[in-house]
Amino acid sequence: MAYDPQNVFARILRGEIPCRKVYEDEWSLAFHDINPLAPVHVLVIPKGPYVSMADFTAKASDAELAGFFRAVGQVARDLGLEEGGYRMLANTGAAANQEVPHLHVHLFAGAPLGPMLKKVVV
Ligand code: AMP
Repeated sequence: MAYDPQNVFARILRGEIPCRKVYEDEWSLAFHDINPLAPVHVLVIPKGPYVSMADFTAKASDAELAGFFRAVGQVARDLGLEEGGYRMLANTGAAANQEVPHLHVHLFAGAPLGPMLKKVVV
């Protein structure tokens, strides 16, 4: 999947559309999902133009990589998610129904989150 600079998260990063920000630093931005699936549903994104984790880890600098992963942990700490537990999820590509072609990690918390994955039978 090619990076589309008009994707909604690129537009949020450029300030063209608003978001409910929970964290920002040099490398990363975190904001509330517009359609929350749990009491806490936050997205953490790197600021660089990366479609997926494979794209990010192939092309990003060490500083970007460290900055992003530190931000994910920082957001979990800041929101107090460690105590009750939470789930991280990154949909990638067609099989996972990735809607926005800019790498993002979902953080879900605030209620029992059910099984890890609905069983997929092939
Ligand atoms: P995914 O299917 O992993 O690509 O998830 C994309 C997520 O982005 C969905 O959970 C959407 O609800 C969320 N989303 C789409 N547009 C916005 C927006 N403008 N602000 C916040 N979250 C958004």
